[in-house]
Amino acid sequence: MRIATFSAEDRRGVGLISADGARITPLVPTPGQAETGALAVIQALANGARFPDVEGESLPLETVRLEAPLPKPLRNLWRVGRNYHAHARELATSVFKNNDANPESWPIVFTKVPECVVGPRDEVRMPHGISSQIDYEAELAVVIGKGGRNIAKAEAMSHVFGYTILNDVTARDVQSRHQQWDLGKSFDTFCPMGPWIATADELDGTATRVRCWVNGELRQDGLTQDMIFDIPTLIETCSRGITLYPGDVIATGTPAGVGMGMKPPRYLGTGDVVRIEIDGVGVIENRFA
Ligand code: MG
Repeated sequence: MRIATFSAEDRRGVGLISADGARITPLVPTPGQAETGALAVIQALANGARFPDVEGESLPLETVRLEAPLPKPLRNLWRVGRNYHAHARELATSVFKNNDANPESWPIVFTKVPECVVGPRDEVRMPHGISSQIDYEAELAVVIGKGGRNIAKAEAMSHVFGYTILNDVTARDVQSRHQQWDLGKSFDTFCPMGPWIATADELDGTATRVRCWVNGELRQDGLTQDMIFDIPTLIETCSRGITLYPGDVIATGTPAGVGMGMKPPRYLGTGDVVRIEIDGVGVIENRFA
């Protein structure tokens, strides 16, 4: 299944995307859905509810506005830094320690505030006067279905509800300035998400392809098999002594090809369009303003 959050005629709904990607069938609203979109469905399922019924006819997708599937996440989004070998190498000279090629190392984990999430086609507003080094990061994000604490690697995949696409937009100068990543990654609108959640029964997130274009130029092209820390390890890591809840999001890091890694660096400017595609999920495309 592919579950989307949408708005039409001033109402927010959740719907299933057809196999050809052209239509959406609304579901009977779950309590909380108008506020939190697909999160309400994920929470209801985790509480033992059966899957909601469909409500009426399917609609052409172009007649609704797709929102982020989780327009108002439960809490901060977990993010993983430097998690593809080639990307870790391209940023090896930055001020942060690297975790590539060191089996004793631990994942770099930080968070992004939930309020910075925007939809798959929404504009990203650059914080002028605060940063002049805005960068993109195409990422596969894991959406937790069944919560838990101290989830073992061997059990981790059974906690995955599905996958979506995130652009972990980053102000590199702010990131470096503070020796910590949350500020440089949490500006308003800095987390485009969507276009929907592909459920784990339909997509193997451990073996898919992540690509990113800037103004039509391919910049990132990576396979999730090339992660330094795989998805079960990331779930185990984030749940060590911390309870994960249904609807929590863990973004798994970005492949090589970010603007900061180029010589000289190529940061985003006004009017640039960043398109991210993940096989088995779909496409998000956001203009920077
Ligand atoms: Mg990232």
